[in-house]
Amino acid sequence: MNKIEHLGIAVKDLAASEQIFTDLLGAAPYKREEVPSEHVITSFFMIGESKIELLQATSEASAIHGFIEKKGEGIHHIAFAVDNLEAEIERLTSLGYRMIHEKPKEGADGKMIAFMHPSGTNKVLVELCADKA
Ligand code: ZN
Repeated sequence: MNKIEHLGIAVKDLAASEQIFTDLLGAAPYKREEVPSEHVITSFFMIGESKIELLQATSEASAIHGFIEKKGEGIHHIAFAVDNLEAEIERLTSLGYRMIHEKPKEGADGKMIAFMHPSGTNKVLVELCADKA
Protein backbone atom coordinates (compact mmCIF):
# COMPACT_ATOMS: atom_id res chain seq x y z
CA MET A 1 0.00 0.00 0.00
CA ASN A 2 1.38 3.36 -1.01
CA LYS A 3 -0.58 6.01 0.81
CA ILE A 4 -4.04 7.01 1.94
CA GLU A 5 -5.62 7.76 -1.42
CA HIS A 6 -8.75 9.25 0.06
CA LEU A 7 -11.22 9.28 2.91
CA GLY A 8 -14.84 8.75 1.93
CA ILE A 9 -17.41 10.77 3.87
CA ALA A 10 -21.14 10.04 3.65
CA VAL A 11 -23.22 13.21 3.43
CA LYS A 12 -26.90 14.05 3.03
CA ASP A 13 -26.53 17.28 1.12
CA LEU A 14 -23.57 17.39 -1.24
CA ALA A 15 -23.74 21.13 -1.94
CA ALA A 16 -23.85 22.02 1.77
CA SER A 17 -20.95 19.67 2.53
CA GLU A 18 -18.92 20.98 -0.40
CA GLN A 19 -19.20 24.42 1.19
CA ILE A 20 -18.04 23.08 4.58
CA PHE A 21 -15.00 21.33 3.08
CA THR A 22 -14.20 24.28 0.85
CA ASP A 23 -14.12 26.42 4.01
CA LEU A 24 -12.07 23.82 5.89
CA LEU A 25 -9.49 23.12 3.20
CA GLY A 26 -9.37 26.56 1.63
CA ALA A 27 -9.91 25.09 -1.82
CA ALA A 28 -12.93 24.12 -3.89
CA PRO A 29 -13.60 20.54 -5.03
CA TYR A 30 -11.78 19.69 -8.25
CA LYS A 31 -14.49 17.43 -9.58
CA ARG A 32 -18.00 16.13 -9.15
CA GLU A 33 -18.76 12.74 -10.56
CA GLU A 34 -21.84 10.56 -10.53
CA VAL A 35 -21.32 6.79 -10.24
CA PRO A 36 -24.64 5.36 -11.46
CA SER A 37 -23.70 1.74 -10.63
CA GLU A 38 -23.29 2.75 -6.96
CA HIS A 39 -26.20 5.20 -6.90
CA VAL A 40 -23.97 8.00 -5.63
CA ILE A 41 -22.76 11.39 -6.63
CA THR A 42 -19.26 12.22 -5.42
CA SER A 43 -17.23 15.35 -4.96
CA PHE A 44 -13.42 15.31 -4.63
CA PHE A 45 -11.01 17.63 -2.83
CA MET A 46 -7.19 17.44 -2.87
CA ILE A 47 -5.38 17.75 0.44
CA GLY A 48 -1.64 17.24 -0.06
CA GLU A 49 -1.20 13.85 -1.70
CA SER A 50 -4.56 12.59 -0.47
CA LYS A 51 -8.16 13.36 -1.23
CA ILE A 52 -11.47 13.76 0.48
CA GLU A 53 -14.40 12.11 -1.29
CA LEU A 54 -17.86 13.29 -0.32
CA LEU A 55 -20.60 10.82 -1.22
CA GLN A 56 -24.30 11.55 -1.47
CA ALA A 57 -26.84 8.83 -2.32
CA THR A 58 -28.89 9.34 -5.47
CA SER A 59 -31.40 6.62 -4.56
CA GLU A 60 -32.43 4.39 -1.69
CA ALA A 61 -30.56 1.53 -3.41
CA SER A 62 -27.28 3.23 -2.50
CA ALA A 63 -25.08 1.82 0.27
CA ILE A 64 -24.59 5.45 1.33
CA HIS A 65 -28.33 5.78 1.91
CA GLY A 66 -28.29 2.69 4.16
CA PHE A 67 -25.19 3.90 6.00
CA ILE A 68 -26.74 7.29 6.81
CA GLU A 69 -30.02 5.67 7.88
CA LYS A 70 -28.10 3.45 10.32
CA LYS A 71 -25.26 5.65 11.51
CA GLY A 72 -25.85 9.16 10.26
CA GLU A 73 -23.38 11.22 8.29
CA GLY A 74 -19.66 10.77 8.76
CA ILE A 75 -16.55 8.88 7.73
CA HIS A 76 -17.64 5.97 5.56
CA HIS A 77 -14.42 4.40 4.25
CA ILE A 78 -10.67 4.74 3.98
CA ALA A 79 -9.05 4.12 0.62
CA PHE A 80 -5.46 2.96 0.15
CA ALA A 81 -3.58 3.37 -3.12
CA VAL A 82 -2.00 0.18 -4.45
CA ASP A 83 0.09 -0.46 -7.57
CA ASN A 84 -1.38 -3.80 -8.55
CA LEU A 85 -4.96 -4.24 -7.43
CA GLU A 86 -5.37 -7.87 -8.48
CA ALA A 87 -2.15 -8.87 -6.72
CA GLU A 88 -3.23 -7.05 -3.56
CA ILE A 89 -6.66 -8.74 -3.58
CA GLU A 90 -4.92 -12.08 -3.93
CA ARG A 91 -2.43 -11.31 -1.15
CA LEU A 92 -5.12 -10.26 1.32
CA THR A 93 -7.46 -13.11 0.40
CA SER A 94 -4.63 -15.60 0.94
CA LEU A 95 -4.17 -14.09 4.42
CA GLY A 96 -7.82 -14.86 5.14
CA TYR A 97 -9.38 -11.44 4.60
CA ARG A 98 -12.76 -11.26 2.90
CA MET A 99 -13.32 -9.01 -0.04
CA ILE A 100 -16.67 -7.47 -0.97
CA HIS A 101 -15.29 -7.29 -4.52
CA GLU A 102 -13.08 -10.20 -5.47
CA LYS A 103 -12.42 -8.63 -8.86
CA PRO A 104 -11.49 -4.99 -9.50
CA LYS A 105 -14.37 -2.81 -10.56
CA GLU A 106 -14.65 0.67 -11.96
CA GLY A 107 -14.71 3.41 -9.32
CA ALA A 108 -14.87 7.19 -9.40
CA ASP A 109 -12.04 9.52 -10.42
CA GLY A 110 -10.33 7.20 -12.92
CA LYS A 111 -9.68 4.36 -10.48
CA MET A 112 -10.17 0.62 -10.40
CA ILE A 113 -11.34 -0.33 -6.92
CA ALA A 114 -12.22 -3.20 -4.59
CA PHE A 115 -13.77 -2.99 -1.14
CA MET A 116 -12.83 -5.30 1.73
CA HIS A 117 -15.40 -6.74 4.10
CA PRO A 118 -15.37 -4.58 7.26
CA SER A 119 -15.96 -7.58 9.54
CA GLY A 120 -12.25 -8.44 9.18
CA THR A 121 -10.83 -4.93 9.53
CA ASN A 122 -12.03 -3.59 12.88
CA LYS A 123 -15.32 -2.56 11.25
CA VAL A 124 -13.43 -0.11 9.07
CA LEU A 125 -14.60 -0.22 5.48
CA VAL A 126 -11.41 -0.38 3.43
CA GLU A 127 -11.23 0.41 -0.27
CA LEU A 128 -8.20 -0.50 -2.36
CA CYS A 129 -7.66 1.56 -5.46
CA ALA A 130 -5.29 1.67 -8.38
CA ASP A 131 -4.95 3.86 -11.44
CA LYS A 132 -6.61 2.46 -14.53
CA ALA A 133 -4.04 0.72 -16.69
ZN1 ZN B 1 -13.83 5.88 -2.11
